[in-house]
Amino acid sequence: MATFSVGFLGCKVSHTDAHDVRERLLHDGHFEHDGPADVAVVNTCCVTNEAVAKSRKEAARAARTHGRVYVTGCGANLAADAFAGLPHNVIVVARRSEETPAFVAGDIGAIGCVQADARLDRVRAFVKVQDGCSFSCNFCVIPLVRGGSRSRVAEAVLAEIRRRVGQGHREVVLTGINLGCYRDRAAGYDLPRLVREAGATPGLARLRLSSIEINHVDEKLVSALRETPTVSRHLHVPLQSGDDGVLRAMARRYTAATYLRRLEPLRDEFNLTADVIVGFPTEDERAFDHTLRVVERAGLTKIHVFPYSPRPGTVTAEQDAVPPQVKKERGARLRAASDAACLARWRTKLGADDTVLVDRPGRGYGDDYSPWLVAPAAPIGELVRVRGAAVSEEGILAA
Ligand code: SF4
Repeated sequence: MATFSVGFLGCKVSHTDAHDVRERLLHDGHFEHDGPADVAVVNTCCVTNEAVAKSRKEAARAARTHGRVYVTGCGANLAADAFAGLPHNVIVVARRSEETPAFVAGDIGAIGCVQADARLDRVRAFVKVQDGCSFSCNFCVIPLVRGGSRSRVAEAVLAEIRRRVGQGHREVVLTGINLGCYRDRAAGYDLPRLVREAGATPGLARLRLSSIEINHVDEKLVSALRETPTVSRHLHVPLQSGDDGVLRAMARRYTAATYLRRLEPLRDEFNLTADVIVGFPTEDERAFDHTLRVVERAGLTKIHVFPYSPRPGTVTAEQDAVPPQVKKERGARLRAASDAACLARWRTKLGADDTVLVDRPGRGYGDDYSPWLVAPAAPIGELVRVRGAAVSEEGILAA
């Protein structure tokens, strides 16, 4: 038997991929260990140059404290050479996510099923329902490293949710690279039907979507989100830019007006958050101002800001016209707008009640994924009723 640790960099899909490896190793009889161990698995990210550099650093760090390090995930698939020159105990696994757990487990050697029901995360479970993307945005490397869109069978997804709830998870996050592409044609499922049925899982307190493209926010999905009582009042909808010229150059499949129109029915009820790329090669000051305006008009709160970083193999791989200082300055302006919008939303909760899922000592998230600061002794993994007493830069203080 081996001791192991598993870490990840990047998005929620990277998280679920890392989780799949953990589960497979536990299933095979290996033991998870926080400190130095026989094996480390580092599931990497390649969304920017910085993400690859961080992934390399993490692999190098793990190589000092572990007997063997498996470098998996998007970074390993896109840029295996970025991990060249690391110590000999680092093994780069450039394989699809579906094949990676079995490969790592096979390399370590199976022991026997002793911990198949181990609970890996006490609070929320990320359940991957779809992987890959067939949209081909001009800046994005994900289709190259993850392949085209494919979905899991609905019954397998629903069975996993029942199992996670049985393990004690209160919240389930449906996760995918392009979640709205979810289809189980043979069984007649699309994402709205999956949301309704997943949300009705006995014992589940809260269901969230990791992220959804605006193209998929249609009447059917909006109804499913609204009419499923367990669905969290939060939706993350990548914007990337609020300027039609930039959206076209990115090969995104919508205009700023479409983005605004499709979010309108959710605006009052849901906390809307987004990703935005700043400093795309064709983004000038006017285009950036359009983005700021759409962020405000859509009622977006938290913005995940990504300075544009050319990725190898993409259409815009050779383009990077906006100077780093300008990207930095636009990023700061967007973050300031995001911070102000978050504070404004949090202030609406003063004197109001909410239910918080406590996920760390003294912290958790309300029904719309706003952050709350609760009593340090609040039980982790449980839902607690709170009332907003004050607002700080980190979230809403519970009375
Ligand atoms: S929708 Fe575009 S940005 Fe998102 S994963 Fe697919 S290609 Fe990349």
